[in-house]
Amino acid sequence: MKKKGTIPSLLIIIVCIALAVSIFIQQQKIKLALETFHPIKLHALRHQTDMGIGLTEKITIGAIGDILIHGVVYQDALKGNRYNFDPIFENVKSLLEKPDIVTANQESLLGGIELGLSTYPLFNSPHEVADALEHTGVDIVSTANNHSLDRGEKGVDSEAAYLDKIGLPYVGSFVDEKDKEKLRIIEKNGIKIAFLSYTYGTNGIPIPAGKDFLVNLINRDLMKDEIHRAKKEADVVVMSIHWGVEYQRIPNNDQKDLANFLANEGVDVIFGSHSHVLQPMEWIKTKDGRKTFVVYSLGNFISGQTNDYKDIGGLATIDITKHISEKGESIELSNPVFDPTFVSSQSFKNYRVVPLGNAGSFGLPNADGKYKEIQAHMTQWLR
Ligand SMILES: [Zn+2]
Repeated sequence: MKKKGTIPSLLIIIVCIALAVSIFIQQQKIKLALETFHPIKLHALRHQTDMGIGLTEKITIGAIGDILIHGVVYQDALKGNRYNFDPIFENVKSLLEKPDIVTANQESLLGGIELGLSTYPLFNSPHEVADALEHTGVDIVSTANNHSLDRGEKGVDSEAAYLDKIGLPYVGSFVDEKDKEKLRIIEKNGIKIAFLSYTYGTNGIPIPAGKDFLVNLINRDLMKDEIHRAKKEADVVVMSIHWGVEYQRIPNNDQKDLANFLANEGVDVIFGSHSHVLQPMEWIKTKDGRKTFVVYSLGNFISGQTNDYKDIGGLATIDITKHISEKGESIELSNPVFDPTFVSSQSFKNYRVVPLGNAGSFGLPNADGKYKEIQAHMTQWLR
């Protein structure tokens, strides 16, 4: 019995080795060809699928909601004479570092201490918030929202100068026309992602005359132009948008209508914010047969707000695959995932953003049940 089994096994092993060697030689040949003629595309070999006939690249992008730094939060971050927000995010660092690119909505203006810190209704937060976001895995911040002009032009300029200094890109509010015209495109694994950002308004604070560049206001004609411009430069267009009604857990018809418009103009991914509570995720089918992924609202990621879902946020992610073949290039979106988070604090101190599933060990009763409830809420339109 044993002898009968040995010869076929040996044969299988020999065939396998022969196959592996031939595949290796083939790959070396292709590698050499690419090195000779297209050295710039060498990175694509990592995801090679069809032995030189087609190539695919894949990345994951994600977004978190409002970074809304109330007075209680920046007071908690004051250690000695300096602000340090890193501990607030230490429990979600591994989560935010997983996607290739993460964007956040910087809701409270980061004007820094020179302008005098302030809380609701006219926010001004320490510059150091940006350091913590960068340390935690955020790659770009969206700065168009109803608090963009809380400290006027000075605030926008101070925030932009600091973000430039630490190398954290921003989009949505700008220092001048040239800054506004410059598309924010981040490239990863050969996939170019353009980030755009718009807000419904600025809490009634008028934009200074002749300075429309300060903040992007929702305007279908202007958005359409920028989407088309971004589409020419990038593979994927991501729109961060500040819209909807505060504390509403379901998007209204205006949001749905605008999402449809953006999708049909070419936006691939829409990350919404403003409601301070989570609103569900959805696929939108476009007239040209594409699929746009929308998260209607990402809620608060960090804030001093509590109760009624205002202390629950999360990270939404989507996979982007770029297929390159003789027929051309195409983009495929897949695998939407939502990882809920919770803002833990004790008597307005010790603020920590933690994964909702683990929030029980941070004092949240029935964390498991809440995790399931939030997952069901966010995915209700995906099923
Ligand atoms: Zn807002």
